[in-house]
Amino acid sequence: MTRVTARPAVLLVDDHPTNLLALEGVLESLQVRTTQATSGEQALKCLLREDFAVIVLDAVMPGMDGFETARLIRQRARHRDTPIILISAYQKDESSIVRGYVEGAVDYLTKPFEPEVLRAKVALFVGLFEKDRELKERAARLREEQAELLAREHAALLEAAVQRARLHGVFTQAPVAIALLQGPAHVYAYVNPLYLRLVGQRDILGRPAREAHPEIDGQHVFELMDHVFRTGEPVAGKAIPIHLEGGRETAFFDFVYQPLRDGVGRVEGILVCACEVTTQMHARLKAEELSASLRSQHEALQKSEERFRSLMHAVSQIVWTTDAEGRVSADSPSWRAFTGQPREKYLDGRYGWLECIHPEDRGRTVRMWVEALRLRKVFEAEHRLRRHDGTYRTMSVRGVPVATGDGQVREWVGIHIDITEQRRSEESASFLARASAVLSSSLDYEATLAHVARLVVPTLADWCAVDLLTADGGLERVAAAHRQPEMVGRVYEVLRHFELDWNASHGLARVLRTGEPEWLSNVPESFFEAGARDEHQTRLLHELGLVSYLCVPLLSRGRILGALTLVYAREGQEYDEWTLRLAEDLARRAASSVDNARLFREAKEAVQVRDEFLSIASHELKTPLTPLRLKLHSLRRSARVAGDGAMDSRALLAHLDAAERQVARLSRLIDSLLDVSRIGAGKLELDWEDVDLVEVVREVVGRFEPQATKAGCRVTVSAPGPVVGRWDRLRLDQVVTNLLTNALKYGADKPVELSVSTQAGHAVLLVRDQGIGIDPSNLSRIFERFERAVSQRHYGGLGLGLYITRTIVQALGGTIEARSTPGEGSTFSVSLPGVYAERALRTPAS
Ligand code: ADP
Repeated sequence: MTRVTARPAVLLVDDHPTNLLALEGVLESLQVRTTQATSGEQALKCLLREDFAVIVLDAVMPGMDGFETARLIRQRARHRDTPIILISAYQKDESSIVRGYVEGAVDYLTKPFEPEVLRAKVALFVGLFEKDRELKERAARLREEQAELLAREHAALLEAAVQRARLHGVFTQAPVAIALLQGPAHVYAYVNPLYLRLVGQRDILGRPAREAHPEIDGQHVFELMDHVFRTGEPVAGKAIPIHLEGGRETAFFDFVYQPLRDGVGRVEGILVCACEVTTQMHARLKAEELSASLRSQHEALQKSEERFRSLMHAVSQIVWTTDAEGRVSADSPSWRAFTGQPREKYLDGRYGWLECIHPEDRGRTVRMWVEALRLRKVFEAEHRLRRHDGTYRTMSVRGVPVATGDGQVREWVGIHIDITEQRRSEESASFLARASAVLSSSLDYEATLAHVARLVVPTLADWCAVDLLTADGGLERVAAAHRQPEMVGRVYEVLRHFELDWNASHGLARVLRTGEPEWLSNVPESFFEAGARDEHQTRLLHELGLVSYLCVPLLSRGRILGALTLVYAREGQEYDEWTLRLAEDLARRAASSVDNARLFREAKEAVQVRDEFLSIASHELKTPLTPLRLKLHSLRRSARVAGDGAMDSRALLAHLDAAERQVARLSRLIDSLLDVSRIGAGKLELDWEDVDLVEVVREVVGRFEPQATKAGCRVTVSAPGPVVGRWDRLRLDQVVTNLLTNALKYGADKPVELSVSTQAGHAVLLVRDQGIGIDPSNLSRIFERFERAVSQRHYGGLGLGLYITRTIVQALGGTIEARSTPGEGSTFSVSLPGVYAERALRTPAS
C-alpha cells in the first residue's frame, strides 16, 4: 500500500495581512504549505480542520491575543504538542516571554527578527513534524502488520487444530494400523484402534516395543525398527509373516516404517503403518492352489475342447443367436469357423449371414425366417450353406424363440446341422435304385445304357458317354446324353474324331487300360490343348463344355468292359469323392448289367447252336443207320431166299463188311460226342507211352484205304523213319484219323499227302489235300466247337473233329494250324514236342 503524504503545513496567525504576507515570504523557500489566520478564533478553527507542523502566532492581536490563543490550543489534547512560535512586536519584555513559554510557546521571537532565524526554527519544527508523522505512520503500519500476522497465526493454529483433529480422526478410522514410536527404544506414543486390535488390545502406550511384544522378538521386527531409527531410511515390507500371539496362526502384514524427524531433521521416532493381509494371503495361496488346479482342469478342458472341436468339425454344427427381431446380435464363432465369413460381415446388424446361403435358397429361407419371427414359432428349414472352402453343404436349420417371464421373445437361438452326407446317401440310394430299376428292366444293354445315360444327366453330369470295348479291341460309344438334347450328336462325334492313344497317361484310354477311375475336379485350360488331337476336337470340347470330369471303368468279373464318362460343363459344379463313389457304384451296376446281357446273348446263341447241333447230330447219326438197316434187310432177305440155311458166304461177308463200316461210323460219331462232353467236363485223360508217329500214320492210312478209294483219292505217306515220342497212341490215332477224314471229305478225287518229320525236337505232321480249301477268315474259327465253314447240305458233319483234334494236340503240349488257298486245297500241320531223336520203336510189326 502506498500512502500519499501531504506536505507539512504551517499556520500563520497575525491580525495584519501584511505581516502574514511577510511571513509567507520568509517561509517560501522552505516549500511548506501555509495557512493564514487573521485572528485567534480563526486559528482555532483552522486547527479543527487539520494538524500543523508549527504555528507562528502573533502575540499581540486585538481581542484574543496570541497568549490566549496559545493557551487554548494547548488545552486541546490533539494539539498539545504542536510547537508554537510567538512573535511580538515589542521590545524584549521578560514577563511577556515568560508568559509566552507558560502558555506553551516553544519559542518567542520579537520583531524585528532575522528571517533566517524564523526560517530555521520553522524548518526545525517542520522536520520534527515530518519525523514524528513518519514515526507515527510506521507505528501504524507495524500495528497493521502485527494484526495481520496475529490473524494469520490464529488461522494457522486453527487449521493445525483442525488438521490434528482430522489426522486423529483419520488415524482412528484408518483401515490400516498406525502407531507412533518415539526414541531409540521405540516407545509407543500413539496407536490407533486398529493397531490395538491387531496387537490384542494390550496396554502398550508409553511402553517400549520390545517390552510390549516380547513374542515377536527374533522375528526381525525390532531389528528393522532399529535400522529405520538409526539410518532414517524408511522400510516397507510386503506380506511379511509375523507370529503375534501364542496359539494364533501366523498373520501376514504389509507395513511401512517411516522415520519421523524433529525440527532440525534428527530422527526422533517411527511412524508404523501396518495392514494385515492374512486373508488376502490365504486367498492368494488358495488362488494359487486354485489356479494350479484350474491349470490342470484347463488342460483337461483344452483336451476335451479339442475333442469337442473335432467332434464339432465332424458333426459340423453351428450355433447362433439373434435378438428378438431376428437380427444377429452376438458373435457365432462356429458360424464364422464354418463359413469363413469375417466377423464384421456376420455382425453387420442386417442380414449379412444371407450371403453364405446358396443364391437359389435365399428367397425361401428369408420368407420362412420372417414368417417364424412374425408368428414366434420354431423356424425349421433346409438350405445350402457355403463352407469356407467354397463348397456348398446341405444344412438343416432350427431356430427357437427364447421367451422372458412375461412371454415376450427375448432372443432366438438356432442351430445348423450339416446333413450333406445324409442327403447325399439318400440321393445316392434313390439314384441307384432308379438306375438299378432301369438296368434290370431289359436285356437289351444298348437301350439300357442309353436310358442310364439319360438318368445321369442332369443330376450327375451336364453330359455323359458310355463306351464299350469291342471284341476286336476297338471302342464303341454305345450311349450318350447331353443337357441340351441337340448337343448329343457332338458327344458321339468327339469320340469318332478321337483316335485313342492306348498308352496315354491320362483320360479314357488310361481308364480302359488300367481299370482305375480318373477324376479332375477342375479341368485347366491347358487340358484342351494337351488332351485334344486337333483343332476340330478342341472346338467340339469347347462347344460341349468341360469344367470338371470323371471317368470310371465298367468292370465285371474282373474284366474291363468299357468306361462311363461324366462331365460338368458349367462353372460352379465339380466332382468330388462322393460323386466318384456314386459313379463307380453306377458303373459297377451298369457293367454287371452289360455283362449279364452279353452272357444271356451268348447263352441264347449257345442254345441256338446246340439246337442246330442236335438237328445236325440226329441227321448225322441217322445217316449210317439207313444203309445199316438196308444191309440188315438184304441179309435177312438173302437168308430167306436161301431157305435151306446155306447162304452165299461171299455175299454175306460183303453185307457184313458194309454193316460194320456203318457201325464203325456210328461209333466214331458217338465217340466224338463223348469226347466233347469229356473235354467240356475237363476229363480228357491221356495214356502216356512211347509212340512212333509214323507207324500210327501208316496204320490209319491203311485202315482208310476203302474210304480213300471210294473218295477217289490217292493217299501217300512220306517219313524219314520212325519218329518216336512220349505221347498217347489212341489219341494220336484220333488226330490222324480226323485230319485224314477231312482231307478225303473236302479233297475228294485229288491226291492226299501225309508227311512226318522232325524239327528242333518236335515231330511235325502235315496233312495236305488239294480240295475246296478254306477261306482265310474262317481259318481260326474252324477249330472251335460246332464251327463249320461249309453248308450241311453239301458236306455232312458235326463240326467237332478239329475241335477235338486241337484239344488233344494241346493236351500233348503241341500246336495245330491250318493254311489254305481256297479252291486249291488245305494243309494242316501238327507240331508235337518230346521226340526221342535217335530211337526207333520196337513193335511187333518191326
Ligand atoms: P466237320 O468236318 O464235321 O464239319 P471239323 O471240325 O472236322 O468238322 O471241320 C470243321 C470245318 O472245317 C469243316 O466243316 C470244314 O468247313 C472245314 N475243313 C476241315 N478240314 C478241311 C479241309 N481239309 N479242307 C477244307 N475244309 C476243311
